[in-house]
Amino acid sequence: MRRDGRVDVAIVGAGVTGCSTALRLAEAGLSVRVHDQRGVAEGASGRNGGFALRGGATRYDVARDTYGREPARALWHWTERALDRMESLAGDSLTRVGSLRLAADEEERGHIRSEYDAMREDGIAAEWIDKADLAAHLHSFHGAIEHPGDGSLQPARFVRRLAARAAEAGADIREHDRVDDVASLDATHVVVATDGYGHGLVPELAEAIWPTRGQVIVSEPLDRVLYDRPHYARQGFDYWQQLPNRRIVLGGFRDVSILDELTDVEETTPAIQESLERFMGELIGEQPLISHRWAGIFGLTQDMLPLVGRVPGRDGLWVAAGYSGHGNVLGFACGELVADAILGESSPQLELFDPARFA
Ligand SMILES: Cc1cc2nc3c(=O)[nH]c(=O)nc-3n(C[C@H](O)[C@H](O)[C@H](O)COP(=O)(O)OP(=O)(O)OC[C@H]3O[C@@H](n4cnc5c(N)ncnc54)[C@H](O)[C@@H]3O)c2cc1C
Repeated sequence: MRRDGRVDVAIVGAGVTGCSTALRLAEAGLSVRVHDQRGVAEGASGRNGGFALRGGATRYDVARDTYGREPARALWHWTERALDRMESLAGDSLTRVGSLRLAADEEERGHIRSEYDAMREDGIAAEWIDKADLAAHLHSFHGAIEHPGDGSLQPARFVRRLAARAAEAGADIREHDRVDDVASLDATHVVVATDGYGHGLVPELAEAIWPTRGQVIVSEPLDRVLYDRPHYARQGFDYWQQLPNRRIVLGGFRDVSILDELTDVEETTPAIQESLERFMGELIGEQPLISHRWAGIFGLTQDMLPLVGRVPGRDGLWVAAGYSGHGNVLGFACGELVADAILGESSPQLELFDPARFA
């Protein structure tokens, strides 16, 4: 639906966050317009590894020590509920196959064992797998946590569905429509949902959300299924899954040149691509042909928590961004959260994610 003139809410960004916000608000009866300089899901929401993980971007035990036991536990359960809602909207774009968090060495084994113990203490479902019980092709790893409710997402397909639902509910979604100044939008409320891409659009957020590059490669289809769910290791730096067409999607190795990757230049680099290719060979046991490569940008925050709520000192301006590489579920959930905040609802998550903590 075309909406000219003043609207209740204008949203910048048509990724998972913006589309989730638009859907929630349009269903609540507000007039909504979404602006994206590209097409729906052409930012990180269509360029990611497809991991739909519950929880925050830090290990659970670290989150518990940092934010407190109740806030951490509430955050994990909140994302589990978000995953359930995603499943109800996703059709065939989400399968709840679980995920496997692997330890690359003994030190990491200690870390993820602490995470597992903390989760079990707090009633969060997880299974421990000892090194000896890992499948033969995972013999180089030192143990794992199995997260039963996680999912494998076809992110672009999911977000296009969200956008279609939002449009059906009355939202005007404008693609190839860049916003240079949020003050120019004719709306009572403006939501900035640009995660790593909108650097500079709101100067007050420039130091709070750092654009960060992630790189990915995809293999030609294998002749066998090796990985039946999303796998990740080295604190989540490396992540891979095998798609239904038996291609492996592998991302990571950002730590090879970690400072160079603090950028919004959407280009692959030889150093990281070579590391990805070498690791792909190790994962498969032979060097496959690579069919696709790309880079995407996500928003990193200092405390690894998103920013959701009012931009301090800016009347009617809201943000939902900064998922530190975990935006598939957090982006969906935070899109709804900022919508609920605009509708006047409060929540413990809004306190935890308050952008004012960086003001
Ligand atoms: C390579 C890579 C792998 C990842 N893997 C995973 C994963 O497996 N699991 C996971 O949970 N997360 C992952 N992430 C993170 C996740 O993709 C993001 O956090 C999430 O998609 C953010 O969604 P978003 O809607 O907030 O932002 P985006 O999807 O990035 O959308 C922002 C939109 O804003 C638009 N925009 C920016 N500036 C303007 C402007 N001035 N005017 C108009 N439009 C503008 C952009 O065009 C873009 O479409 C990954 C990210 C990358 C880059």
